[in-house]
Amino acid sequence: MADRGRVIEGVRAAAYRIDTPGPEADGTLSWNSTTMVVVWIRCGGVEGLGWTYADATCVGLIHTVLADAVRGRDVLDVVACWHEMQRRVRNLGRVGLVSCAISAVDIALWDAAGRLLGLPVSTLLGRVHEEVDIYGSGGFTTYDDAQLIAQLDGWVHEQGIPRVKIKIGESWGSRVARDLDRVRLARGTIGDDVELFVDANGGYPVGLAGRVGQRLADWDVSWFEEPVSSDDLDGLRRVREVVAADVAAGEYGYDLPYFARMIQAEAVDCVQVDVTRCGGFTEWRRVAALAAAHNLQISAHCAPNLSAHVAVATPNFRHIEWFADHERIESTYLAGHLDPAGGRVSPPRSGAGHGMGFLSKNAEPNRIA
Ligand SMILES: [Mg+2]
Repeated sequence: MADRGRVIEGVRAAAYRIDTPGPEADGTLSWNSTTMVVVWIRCGGVEGLGWTYADATCVGLIHTVLADAVRGRDVLDVVACWHEMQRRVRNLGRVGLVSCAISAVDIALWDAAGRLLGLPVSTLLGRVHEEVDIYGSGGFTTYDDAQLIAQLDGWVHEQGIPRVKIKIGESWGSRVARDLDRVRLARGTIGDDVELFVDANGGYPVGLAGRVGQRLADWDVSWFEEPVSSDDLDGLRRVREVVAADVAAGEYGYDLPYFARMIQAEAVDCVQVDVTRCGGFTEWRRVAALAAAHNLQISAHCAPNLSAHVAVATPNFRHIEWFADHERIESTYLAGHLDPAGGRVSPPRSGAGHGMGFLSKNAEPNRIA
């Protein structure tokens, strides 16, 4: 029986579509907007907040199956709630949108638990780091030179962020000369002392990825993300063998077995995990433990302001992707968001939950579900 003051009373969700400032693309996808699915959990006079970046269809699933799974339970039993959600979606397909929806609910539950107890989420999760590194991420293939320079200058010279990442692999790896020109431009803009990362979003075939990766060493690129499709675990491993940069992948990991397969295949030097896709803070912790057992670090993919709270509670943590689109959205619609200036973030030691509030009134014109 749940303590009456801790009973989960209500689960509410909404979706918001926010246009990008202009056309954006990476190696294998283009987009003009980003959809944020927001969840509120009500219990004991507090409201927990979670979100995911996914399709608005998640809202229906959250209002029915997932709300039924958690309503009436003790909010401090977050892991039990998580397992119940997982059990109920067996015939729906955990991987994909369902896991995004579970992630948002799980995060809202942890936030509600923290608010009830008057403790930060990072304390509940077991904080081990005072602060964690972040890197500026964007550098879309749609940018012209001036736009790319302006974005990199902003991160490095205005905000003092010593790590940046740009997209390459343009048009499914068919514009290698332009990719390399942009890497050269990026290195020239940021100077020699800033770490330079690239992300091909699976745009290259294996052989080409290896050859591009060898050229990247000319500009001291230290992180080569998804050089080939992250479904091609053997391909990732083969690229690792011939390039100097760390090979990273994992952003499409929706459950623990996915990461087990990726690690088992020796496909990556660093495991990327998206807390709003993988199953929330609860599944993140299991993925991090699995990676630790193989002497691998975790890097957070996107959703930077949520990632920070579990990142500081992850011993084998490397850095958070401070993704330009999500930074724009989270700094506009969330009270209590973090400031990435200086290249490190530190969620507050005091306060309750993750401490952020969604500015519903401001976001209302963008609501689509
Ligand atoms: Mg990526």
